[in-house]
Amino acid sequence: MNARRGLFFAALAVVSSSGCAPTDEAAENPAEHSNDWEKAYEAPVSDPICSGIVLPDRANFGHHVALTFDDGPNLETTPKVLEVLKKHNAHAAFLLNGMRITSDAHKKLLGEMHAAGHILGNHTQHHLNAVTLSTTKLKDEIESTDKILFDLGLAPKYFRFPFGSSNCDTAKLARTYGYAITGWHVDSADWCFAAGQGVCKKSTFKYVPDEFRSDMGGYVLSQVESTKGGVVLFHDIHGNTANHLDVILGALEERGYSFVGLDDVAVFPKLNGASAPPAVWIGSTCKADADCSFDKTGFCLRAAADAASGVCSIPCAGYCPDQSGFAATFCATIEGATPSGACAQKAATENDTCNKLAGTHAATVDRFVGESTAKPATADVCLP
Ligand SMILES: [Zn+2]
Repeated sequence: MNARRGLFFAALAVVSSSGCAPTDEAAENPAEHSNDWEKAYEAPVSDPICSGIVLPDRANFGHHVALTFDDGPNLETTPKVLEVLKKHNAHAAFLLNGMRITSDAHKKLLGEMHAAGHILGNHTQHHLNAVTLSTTKLKDEIESTDKILFDLGLAPKYFRFPFGSSNCDTAKLARTYGYAITGWHVDSADWCFAAGQGVCKKSTFKYVPDEFRSDMGGYVLSQVESTKGGVVLFHDIHGNTANHLDVILGALEERGYSFVGLDDVAVFPKLNGASAPPAVWIGSTCKADADCSFDKTGFCLRAAADAASGVCSIPCAGYCPDQSGFAATFCATIEGATPSGACAQKAATENDTCNKLAGTHAATVDRFVGESTAKPATADVCLP
């Protein structure tokens, strides 16, 4: 609950302190929007399809971080952020408000960002709360920024709802434009640190632990460590964020994190439309052949005919199929078994040298070549 409330307050304060609320028609009274924020943050995690905050990919980021920056561009602070990203060879995503793209200088900046490999996405024209808008108005909010970016040759693919506020209707509408909706896993609370000139005051945001009140880097690191990576939310319109970014990225690198784009299919397969990896695959625990129906030849490979359980396999000669997200497979010779060639996962990092595959142990086996043209080989595989 704390984390959610934390996110809620963080997001709310962005409106008041970060320039998320511009000086024109979108100028907002944060108190007016607190209900919208709350609703957005309380959207059920089990239904990420409609949420503006929850990403479809929830875990297994493998110490990969996608840096995202909202509410720009800003001619003063965005270039500072870009400089830091360049130093760390990091490609980020910038979710833009069309109303901020007001001059040739802004357009030139976006061109440079695109050329440098950064992703430019749509954060709507005026940063209004989507769920309060008529369909016509929301279309206009999406299309205006969409058009600006398309006219610049930027073909945006990612969309982020202002305040993370979305429902099933608004999410569906955004997707009709071909957008992938991206929320975030980690809120840097950079708005709070910016509001206090580097100190996030308890009265502004109570969920930042006291030890991190003057340490945005430490706070971000602690949050990223809790998810082992994922999408991190910043705002490139804060000088304070730009000033601290170098230290933050350095600290993440020191802890073994590396930076990826939102478009990294291996880290964010669902966000990028890849089908989810199957729940059952070669190496999964099974009690019966029927448990291995991911393939029509799937069967339950056992250590002995009367063993209570085994691991899923498929018959093979020479080769076996691989599946992203799983260790590579190997066509193993199983002495005295029928069939004598059976696919098994290789002992590898993905399965923690077989430790993650219940009921298996690593064994060195020869390839079953059979009638194939595969060359003889040996490998360590996970067998029951
Ligand atoms: Zn925003």
